[in-house]
Amino acid sequence: MNQQSIQTALSSLPIGDVRYYDSIGSTNDDALAWAKSGAPDLSIVLADEQTAGRGRLNRKWMTPKGSALAFSLILRPPSRTHLSRTVGLAALSAADSCQMRGLSPQIKWPNDILLNGKKAAGILLESVWSGSEVNYVIIGIGINVLKESTPPAETLKFPAISVEEALGAPVDRLELFADILTSLIKRRAEINTSNFLNQWEQLLAFRGQFVHIINNDQLINSGVLRGLNADGSLQLINSEDKIVSIQFGDVSLRPAV
Ligand code: ADP
Repeated sequence: MNQQSIQTALSSLPIGDVRYYDSIGSTNDDALAWAKSGAPDLSIVLADEQTAGRGRLNRKWMTPKGSALAFSLILRPPSRTHLSRTVGLAALSAADSCQMRGLSPQIKWPNDILLNGKKAAGILLESVWSGSEVNYVIIGIGINVLKESTPPAETLKFPAISVEEALGAPVDRLELFADILTSLIKRRAEINTSNFLNQWEQLLAFRGQFVHIINNDQLINSGVLRGLNADGSLQLINSEDKIVSIQFGDVSLRPAV
């Protein structure tokens, strides 16, 4: 992976500018600084390795050299209207790239992509506001592409997998990257539609199953996973048969065993 091969892979896409790093702390940090200094819509920071990749609440996201995809996309949305669907936009686009390769990805609400029930990708959304208007959104996506990218099992709370392992065949990182971006640009134009919401909902992992919602290792809710509200928040059916909505935030979903 280098600046030239990236430019070639992305040549047919209507993107902004591209910054590539062999190694960086966090692509989201670089994208946040770049967006602040005026990077245009759909500019991208891509790195071969992240040494301080972040999940939510500063949990670590591992991006070892030469085997994963780690990138951050700068979006300057026209209004705040559909901001809450942006995590779905990222998740659906990453899922599309797996489906195109014959895999059956699922979205572990709100921000993870599962293959064979294991985590293959994570998404970290960060937005910067001026008063009640959003200035820009950074979509950070980390994907385990080649086998070597999967962190050791003993370091994880939820099992991990790579696209290559799920597929049982080699995967080209830049082809996967270009496919995700192609899908994201297309789906962005449809983010307001009910079709978008339905497709997002259909990919949800654990639908119809009893799940726990946890925050910092604390159980905060549980119920049967029903689907999504229009803003992408999650619907559970609780033990009293009432629909409960779970808002975005630092919550994680676990199937009840
Ligand atoms: P959650 O698992 O609660 O959704 P995050 O979305 O914040 O958490 O993701 C961070 C977590 O993902 C880390 O705490 C770590 O357990 C796990 N993780 C880190 N790197 C990887 C990776 N490359 N593949 C799969 N899981 C990872």
